[in-house]
Amino acid sequence: MSEHLSPLALDELAVGDPNDAAKAHLDGCASCRLKLDAVKAAALQVRSMPGFEQTFAALDTERPAVAPPKKPRRLWPALVAVAVPLAAALVFLVMSPRDDGSRLKGAPTVELLLKDQPVTTARPGDTVTLAVGGAGKTHVLVLAVDASGVVSRLWPQEPQSAPIGAGARVSLSPSFDVTPGSLVLVGFFTDASQPAAPVLSAVEAQIAIARAAGRSPFQLELPTTFGRTARVTLEVAP
Ligand SMILES: [Zn+2]
Repeated sequence: MSEHLSPLALDELAVGDPNDAAKAHLDGCASCRLKLDAVKAAALQVRSMPGFEQTFAALDTERPAVAPPKKPRRLWPALVAVAVPLAAALVFLVMSPRDDGSRLKGAPTVELLLKDQPVTTARPGDTVTLAVGGAGKTHVLVLAVDASGVVSRLWPQEPQSAPIGAGARVSLSPSFDVTPGSLVLVGFFTDASQPAAPVLSAVEAQIAIARAAGRSPFQLELPTTFGRTARVTLEVAP
């Protein structure tokens, strides 16, 4: 790893998640050590703020290590070897697993908008708006997972999912101020309201499973028994 550490990697290091490559880079790079110190200091500051749960922000693209997109990459070489006529089908195979979090028609979405544009990174102090697309589902619950694996409710304020309007990108209020620390946002879309507590517990259980397998909380698999899901990772630049 010759490039400097990403904000996401720094966030993970700040909470002590094991990542050998990142640690090795850190040993040889004073610049990244300084950045890590800043991230740690900022995280402490945020945790001591009242209303921490309501003041998040910022995003990032899906990490390559996230489980779902891996499958098509493994399929690709084999399929290419088989046949050119399958080209159209190939495109579909490669695209479809991105359901979860992408713009594929018919899939629910969770996004953060900065000045009405979807963003994958943000800086502390930016104001972002949460937006969802229900793809036919009428209710949503959005949870946030931080790098240390803490899960909190992002929307709605009530401890259960709430109705959303129809449309591909429905903005939800209120807006959020971006604070230091990257996040994964996860939406659970259903046809009726559901209580948040069991969903939150299930997400926490999946984080524990990810950790036990040596992955970061951001690489959790989403529980499948609480409706359709969408996720977005929000990378906050230090
Ligand atoms: Zn560096």
